[in-house]
Amino acid sequence: MVGTTEQSRLHPLGSAPRPALPGSLSLSSPETRSGPSIPWPGATRQDVSSLSVLPSFGFLFDIDGVLVRGKTPIPAARTAFQKLVNSQGQFLVPVVFVTNAGNCLRQKKADQLSHLLGISQDQVMMSHSPLRMFKRYHEKCVLVSGQGPLLDIAQDLGFCQPITIDALREKRPLLDAVDHDRRPNVLVSGDFSVVLFGEPVRWETSLQLIIDVLLTSGYPGNPYEQENYPHIPVLACNMDLMWVAEAQSPRFGHGTFMVCLENIYKKITGKELKYEVLMGKPSRLTYQYAEHLIRAQALQRSWEQPIQTLYAVGDNLMTDVYGANLYNRYLESSRTGSKSPAAHCRSVLVCTGVYNPHTEVPLDTRDSITESVFHGHRDFRFDPGLVEPDHIVPDVDAAVDLVFQLENFVPN
Ligand SMILES: [Mg+2]
Repeated sequence: MVGTTEQSRLHPLGSAPRPALPGSLSLSSPETRSGPSIPWPGATRQDVSSLSVLPSFGFLFDIDGVLVRGKTPIPAARTAFQKLVNSQGQFLVPVVFVTNAGNCLRQKKADQLSHLLGISQDQVMMSHSPLRMFKRYHEKCVLVSGQGPLLDIAQDLGFCQPITIDALREKRPLLDAVDHDRRPNVLVSGDFSVVLFGEPVRWETSLQLIIDVLLTSGYPGNPYEQENYPHIPVLACNMDLMWVAEAQSPRFGHGTFMVCLENIYKKITGKELKYEVLMGKPSRLTYQYAEHLIRAQALQRSWEQPIQTLYAVGDNLMTDVYGANLYNRYLESSRTGSKSPAAHCRSVLVCTGVYNPHTEVPLDTRDSITESVFHGHRDFRFDPGLVEPDHIVPDVDAAVDLVFQLENFVPN
């Protein structure tokens, strides 16, 4: 694991002091604009001579537990954001907000952050955002499972023929296994797929109908087929087993729904349910897409320095830290033998959300990532090295300070 001895690292229990940085780097002060002499206490001549005014790094911010708790903004987010924008409100570094939420549109999440600062929906990445790249499914009929404005989400992502579980259920009384005329014509065998956006509200209905669709290759009125493996494609977003709401204990997340679906499928068929793709943190695809958005922002702003390092700031060991570290491993392995512009991806854990070293009722997911208890998804291996953060800081404001110092960054 990288960075275990870095001076900026705090003790996991939070007993070590916050990094020795001022609350503000005075980024907009006249001194820094005309060439900062002492950007932070203790800066050496070498530090000053290597200061950067253009970013060669980008931020991936988790939202819940980092910027907000429920609907309440975390105070440190406001001060952090003041350091990230110039006097015109433009970002000084590329920033993407990466959330595993999936039951709403990007714009709704952007609006949720509007009390902190104006951000564009193009900076927000939901767990389903990478589906935009899966154009080969966009023309096909897809059964979508989840809650919220499912059809709006599907259409916004590019799907032309989404059908919800509810719509399928309404058609179901009309379905007749032997009367072909009564099949709903939106279901086309061989050109059908299932997209799992998030946890639905009536699990038994969704589980039953998804299994029906899988075992009939898209004709849920027909009898189950013997030869339908591999089954039609299943694309799934957000693997979080649990999430923290107002209740004392964690609540079922979409990952729990997926456990049910996987086990029912296996019990009935004796075979593994296979995913065409899994997205949302900690999947590599999500980080690749986030990196793509970061680079697009840098290009748009004509920042010519290549982006070398991504800093993923989050509050959850299993999603934010595991995902960032997994992506960093991928970048390291892809650097050798290819000309990939691969950057590093560094994990920064904050203590304002799920991971809280001070709370009496432990919300820490560390207890759920052991060899015997692993809350990660079936297709992700337990690996203690992947849940070790590169840095632990009290909050997002400290995270921004830390990264600016690590990068010797003083914006113009
Ligand atoms: Mg979070």
